[in-house]
Amino acid sequence: MLALPDFPVRQRDFLLEILRAITSQLELGEVLRRVLRASVIMLAGQVGIVALKNQDDGLFYVRAYSGINAEKIPLLNEKLREILDISATGDYADLETQLMAMAASLSQELKQAVAMPLIFANNPLGLLIVFRSYQVSPDLNDVQILQSFAFQTAIAVHNAQLYERINQERQRLAAILQHSGDGVMILDSALNILQVNRAFEQMTGWLADAAVGCNLDEVITWQRIEQDDLRDVLAQGWFQQKPASETFYVEGDLLRRDGLIVSLGITYAPLFTTEGKPGNIIANIRDITNFRRAQEMQNVFISTVSHELRTPVALIKGYASTLNRQDAQWNMNVVHQSLAVIEEEADRLAELIDDLLTASKIQAERKVALQLADIRLDMLGEQSVERFSTQSSRHQFALSFPEHFPAIQSDARRLRQVIDNLLTNAIKYSPNGGTITVGGRFTDHNVTFFVRDEGVGIQDHEQSRIFERFYRVDNNLTTKTKGTGLGLYLVKAIIEAHNGTISVKSTPGKGSTFYFTLPRD
Ligand code: ADP
Repeated sequence: MLALPDFPVRQRDFLLEILRAITSQLELGEVLRRVLRASVIMLAGQVGIVALKNQDDGLFYVRAYSGINAEKIPLLNEKLREILDISATGDYADLETQLMAMAASLSQELKQAVAMPLIFANNPLGLLIVFRSYQVSPDLNDVQILQSFAFQTAIAVHNAQLYERINQERQRLAAILQHSGDGVMILDSALNILQVNRAFEQMTGWLADAAVGCNLDEVITWQRIEQDDLRDVLAQGWFQQKPASETFYVEGDLLRRDGLIVSLGITYAPLFTTEGKPGNIIANIRDITNFRRAQEMQNVFISTVSHELRTPVALIKGYASTLNRQDAQWNMNVVHQSLAVIEEEADRLAELIDDLLTASKIQAERKVALQLADIRLDMLGEQSVERFSTQSSRHQFALSFPEHFPAIQSDARRLRQVIDNLLTNAIKYSPNGGTITVGGRFTDHNVTFFVRDEGVGIQDHEQSRIFERFYRVDNNLTTKTKGTGLGLYLVKAIIEAHNGTISVKSTPGKGSTFYFTLPRD
């Protein structure tokens, strides 16, 4: 004969089991399954479900079930929605009917449903329902049993949702940290590195695996630093007591792990524990190499441009005030020569201003406006050589174009500017004279134009930089030669506006050849 189950004892055992499941951090699904099993057994039911409210859409979905097949779940989800509409109106008489309809839709054998909401801090989180194949009048004991299980389940669901939210938050933060363009490093209060991100690896050359666990001083090795370092301010009491500390910024040149130097700015921010004790230090690291370079470029630009402007202005002023002297009589020859100088210098000023304006326009708009027409580059080359050959007696000029050079759609004024710039440079940077050759070649698809000199040449590592805005090679000759470092920047912009390319081949001490290639169509 079967012994009748000792209800209070079994209920207590089940409660203990559920509690154990919750505290041993079993996955929520498993906790729900155990609750369901206990509820169904204790209420002598046939079918049980736990439905939870989805945090995104606010609807209820079955999350655990027993005594039914999986195919029934979509139907149950639908019925749940109807029930919850009713329960929202507080009409529980109808709730009973709805639950019965739900039971009938599952199986004709089910005659009764006992439901209990899962509530935590007044928030409905879900519903626990047990269906029975017989009907008995509502029993207080049944309700109490289910209530005790529902109470525990609500805690488990609340914790799980909290955990999930924290987890999502953590993942979001980890993604921000990993993909941030700034380097990030987290230190403990003894300045040991706990975590770094990808940008940090790229900036310092230290991979996370190697950096984590090291002390700050092993990884952040300044070659030059502009003010106190973190250690100094720590010694002065920074990061000792909340809330005295603010962020601390240092800037300098860092020796990377691979021996290269990089300019960095680091902002250290203190983080205190809940007891107000020093916890972590968060370092935000920014690569300021480009900023430094831009600053340097600006300084160079200001000094070059003011120098370039001052020379013609001084000449114009000198000649004009000489001509204007009341105590002197100038013959027509001197007057003409002086006026010619004034005109020439004024032209140079206008050209310089024009270059500056074009450069700033290109920088702002990132394009050059073109007026296209059919242009023969060999003819432009010839005309420029003719003009330039009268300017220098130290250089010989040669032309090297094949016959039937094709015309291309391009902007004559802009290309003349390109050729003139290349020729000016060829003369400027071959102070000992030599031959300057202007020539070209063509294929079915494109035309190439070149200017070759036998001058000082350009070192390999400088060859890509000479096309940058305001960049001038740092050598004796450049210092002595007038220029703003704008010429090749404009040349490149104009050629690229024509969908062309520009390049240079050069051997230091032997000479350079600048090529540009433009498409024929
Ligand atoms: P600028 O001549 O005004 O300095 P550019 O932009 O025309 O500026 O040229 C940039 C730098 O490239 C020059 O300062 C010079 O050092 C180098 N360079 C240009 N053309 C030549 C050349 N033909 N031979 C050697 N160096 C050159």
